[in-house]
Amino acid sequence: MEGNQRWVSGNLHHPDRDPNRRQLVAQTQKPFGSILSCIDSRVPPELLFDTGLGDLYVMRTGGEADGPVVTGSVEYGPLTSGTPLIVVLGHQRCGAVKAAYTSLRDGKPLPGNLQAIVRSLRPAYAQAVRKGGPDPVETMARVQVTLLTADLRSDGVLAPLVSRGSLAVVGAFYSLDTGKVEVLTSAPS
Ligand SMILES: [Zn+2]
Repeated sequence: MEGNQRWVSGNLHHPDRDPNRRQLVAQTQKPFGSILSCIDSRVPPELLFDTGLGDLYVMRTGGEADGPVVTGSVEYGPLTSGTPLIVVLGHQRCGAVKAAYTSLRDGKPLPGNLQAIVRSLRPAYAQAVRKGGPDPVETMARVQVTLLTADLRSDGVLAPLVSRGSLAVVGAFYSLDTGKVEVLTSAPS
């Protein structure tokens, strides 16, 4: 979050990006966080948290759509290198969420494997429709974060780490307008 404040203000440190750091992490890695975010070109986690090499595991899918391969990739850090933090990061004006919302509302499947993203986002759509509100796509994007965060917290291999206090699973939302990351759920105390 300190890195994100630097990103917002423009006072960037660009940490962990020199040849020394490259050598230090060449044989082993111990990132402090795992981030599941969207493929959106305007939401690169390493940049918006002002991090560098070996700092983060990053998984990116359209609308943070999940599935066994994605969940396995999220589990990888906490299980293999004791990563203490998972962040699910949604964002403002998410094109993938908007496309899934429109597809489900109109009953029109998207072409090819885009439909797999729609299927993955269906629970968020259903909850967003129940919630209502002036901007249903924004609501759905936020619901997707809170649903995924809850899923990961109760994940079979992650839940024991969470209850032991060695893993936090945090939901967060990125503003394209301000660059600011807002924590939605479960910030560690
Ligand atoms: Zn997106």
